[in-house]
Amino acid sequence: MADSSGKKKLLVLGGGPGGYPAAFEAADHGMDVTLVDQDPQPGGVCLNRGCIPSKALLHVAKLITESREASHLGVTFEEPKIDLDKLRGFKNGVVGKLTGGIRELCRARGVKLIQARGSLLNSTTAELKHADGKTEKLSFDYCIVAVGSRPAMPPMFNLGDPRIMDSTGALELADIPKKLLVIGGGIIGLELGQAYACFGSKVTVVEMLPAICAGADRDLVNPLQKRLATQFAGIHVNTKVKSLKATPEGIVAELEGEGVESPQTFDRVLLSVGRVPNGKGIGLETTKAKVTDRGFVEVNKKMQTADPNIFAIGDVAGEPMLAHKATREAKVAVEVILGEPAEFDNLAIPSVIYTDPEVAWCGLTETQAKEQGIEVNVVRFPWAASGRAQAIGRTEGLTKVLFEPKTERILGMGIVGPGAGELIAEGVLAVETAAVARDLAESIHAHPTLSETIMESAEGAFAQATHIYRPKRK
Ligand code: NAD
Repeated sequence: MADSSGKKKLLVLGGGPGGYPAAFEAADHGMDVTLVDQDPQPGGVCLNRGCIPSKALLHVAKLITESREASHLGVTFEEPKIDLDKLRGFKNGVVGKLTGGIRELCRARGVKLIQARGSLLNSTTAELKHADGKTEKLSFDYCIVAVGSRPAMPPMFNLGDPRIMDSTGALELADIPKKLLVIGGGIIGLELGQAYACFGSKVTVVEMLPAICAGADRDLVNPLQKRLATQFAGIHVNTKVKSLKATPEGIVAELEGEGVESPQTFDRVLLSVGRVPNGKGIGLETTKAKVTDRGFVEVNKKMQTADPNIFAIGDVAGEPMLAHKATREAKVAVEVILGEPAEFDNLAIPSVIYTDPEVAWCGLTETQAKEQGIEVNVVRFPWAASGRAQAIGRTEGLTKVLFEPKTERILGMGIVGPGAGELIAEGVLAVETAAVARDLAESIHAHPTLSETIMESAEGAFAQATHIYRPKRK
């Protein structure tokens, strides 16, 4: 079904960080590409209602915190005043520039960008429903499904009251509520909770599990939790929300947990209890592709579904639901369509919590090593021994590296501290390229930088780190 010029026709459903890189890669390799997204602005949740706007708000939140904390350094600022319209304008401006950029790149690469809701009619045809209700049919040789995920909204919390927000609502920044309840102490809850706390809300987090950020190693979460404890009105773990009730005074929450006051009334509630994949309702049942009960599209390592014409990538193709995983999967899917022997075989997908301090890790975690009985050496380098950390007054950080004991091969890395999300890239490269401790220890890291904490952690695998002396055990 190649077009008149003999080019293979690719339909990409969904224009997020999975879909648009797939469309670009395919166009760069000479395919006839149509990129369909129901949103007026391409870029998906990540760009429009997720990663990017939240980072814009977190940047401002950090600025506010730093200005307050500068008095310890001998500089005193006035208490920051927030112009909410301007702040919203800044955030929306960032999003606008980036979505405009994607539109421009589509034009330059000859990718047809169509705003419509797409669904499959069979393995070679899709129906596109436009905003005005009109429909059109589109035939393709291959389709890459990259339709993402949406915030989970359990029915007991879905009161239809705008004061109960998901991440999309919270990012709209309608106001700064006096009292904000965050349900779910995961990544979204802590990132947005911290932003609102810095803007002036009294934030209470309830988490049903025994710990916040349950997927991360505790020694990495501890410095974050300590800081959040000074910024939040409360962090309640092992705590359930028994009910929410909308009243004129606010949202009344019945909470159940040790030492938790209940009921409490909040001006707004942020529900951040995970995301739901969008694999249902897009016509995949008319093809051979299989969708799980939760809504994930089943794929193999080549991102192929059970239907030879249909691929799936990103949040809809499985955990972890991370933009950068989607982008890598996009490249794999297109390479497979082009007949190359590609597979998603990455060992290290970095996870970053973009709070202040940031928490980042990649490869094997210490918790996973324990659970799976994998023998590892773990070397920690506390940032108190880093000249740069001292100079910026952020000594609570920690860098740790996990090694294979016999070969000293680097299996994983974890970092907490400002900039951890940037620093973890070195860990990803080390794990992916099978670097050993000496590779990191003997590579010159600029002084004074926080990246030296990685070099010194690595040194600790076979010698003493320069800035820490640990007496040898007799
Ligand atoms: P999450 O899975 O990270 O955290 C949800 C938390 O809510 C969990 O700790 C869970 O135990 C808790 N929870 C669930 N039901 C609850 C209830 N009824 N009461 C109290 N607690 C409850 O989910 P999220 O924070 O909503 O994020 C969703 C997805 O988006 C994740 O897959 C995440 O990877 C992705 N994301 C990533 C980033 C990033 O990379 N920085 C940022 C935002 C979102």
